Amino acid sequence: MDAETRPIEAEPSPRRHSRTVHIGGLRMGGDAPIVVQSMTDTDTADEVATAVQAADLARAGSELVRVTINNEEAAAAVPRIRERLARMGVEVPIVGDFHFNGHKLLRRHPECAEALAKMRINPGNVGKGSRRDPQFAEMIEIACTYDLPVRIGVNWGSLDDSVLTRLMDANAARQQPLPPETVMRDAVVTSAVESAQRAEELGLPGDRIVLSCKMSGVQDLVAVYRDLARRCDYPLHLGLTEAGMGVPGVVASSAALAILLQEGIGDTIRVSLTPDPGGARTREVEVAQQVLQSMGLRDFTPRVTACPGCGRTSSDFFQHLAEHIRNHIDKRMPEWRERYPGVEGLRIAVMGCVVNGPGESRHADIGISLPGAGEQPSAPVFIDGERSVTLKGDQIAEEFEQIVESYVQRRFG
Ligand code: SF4
Repeated sequence: MDAETRPIEAEPSPRRHSRTVHIGGLRMGGDAPIVVQSMTDTDTADEVATAVQAADLARAGSELVRVTINNEEAAAAVPRIRERLARMGVEVPIVGDFHFNGHKLLRRHPECAEALAKMRINPGNVGKGSRRDPQFAEMIEIACTYDLPVRIGVNWGSLDDSVLTRLMDANAARQQPLPPETVMRDAVVTSAVESAQRAEELGLPGDRIVLSCKMSGVQDLVAVYRDLARRCDYPLHLGLTEAGMGVPGVVASSAALAILLQEGIGDTIRVSLTPDPGGARTREVEVAQQVLQSMGLRDFTPRVTACPGCGRTSSDFFQHLAEHIRNHIDKRMPEWRERYPGVEGLRIAVMGCVVNGPGESRHADIGISLPGAGEQPSAPVFIDGERSVTLKGDQIAEEFEQIVESYVQRRFG
């Protein structure tokens, strides 16, 4: 019988069609790269601390930085934060996060609106009861005046009561009512879509609207975004809210985002991690980039693949070498990024023995296979799939670093 190769595709689904929204100098949606964003956790009124953290987030790769604007002092600080960032050479667009008093703050501080690149409004807490609609309308009017795009960001924890009540009443009138969780998910999506329609009726162009529906459960988030993706063509901001701390937070966010991104859903992502006490806020940016890079959706930095190690090697040298190369890349990236366009796509493999080492090394741009237990004390290096030199002795790390450096200059220079 003839062996026949069956095509096995390894691609995410085509990206969902969405409008393109311009935010400062950044494009979101359409065919623009999926944007990584983050949010400060400083008191926005503390303009120095907020500017420093926003700069850290931007330098780590956050392409938009959101700040809370919850009071007069915070609104007044925004233009000064913008100026401080400019003096630090950081041009990242700033997004203002507003709640029930946003309309008053922006009326009193028009310079705040001028310093922003985008606004985020939560229709569930833009105003209570009879104040909700006029305050929402006022925020949209301000967005139109200052040409600001708006993210209408629903959060299931602060869902608009009126939408939920309406849908719950309609459900109760059904012959076979749906489970309350189903109605709640529908209410989250409906609140976002109806608020966007209302914003368009009020004059905000459809290509200035981004939507999000944040949930704290992975399955809820996936279900809600699948529905949202079907019901509109606005760019979608993905994020699991209250993902938590440490490994569970990273895993829950990654799992939720990966499912949706694989289905072509999502135009910008934020990973909401609770930092460990004293931990870096920039970790959420690193995780967001890693989600996109590991899925092959964007490249941010050369990838160093290392084997996990097993009983076939009693040495931990491959771990040290992988770390050495990672550190070297991190140190060199600011210059490489400028001088060697495309270097982000570089693949390096550091393997612990000859069993899988050479095979895996051949699939990388540069690979090295270190000697495992009982193997010859030599380390073959593979460049573009071909065996190149064999390194020996106690200078392997330095010599391998030189090989990487020369390869980058030759291929990307
Ligand atoms: S490359 Fe060798 S040492 Fe590393 S995991 Fe595979 S078999 Fe084990």
